[in-house]
Amino acid sequence: MLGLRFYACEGCDTVHDGVEEPAACAACGADRFEELTSRLRDCRYLAAATREG
Ligand SMILES: [Zn+2]
Repeated sequence: MLGLRFYACEGCDTVHDGVEEPAACAACGADRFEELTSRLRDCRYLAAATREG
């Protein structure tokens, strides 16, 4: 991995990935995110998140 982190929007649960927390959610405009990178050791969560993209 390239240091990517994953953030779940607190407004709509859309998962964003990037090296930094996004400024705002592209889906709903919220600016609060929960980082869930550490949770992604469970590959099932990552599979669900990437299927949308
Ligand atoms: Zn959102």
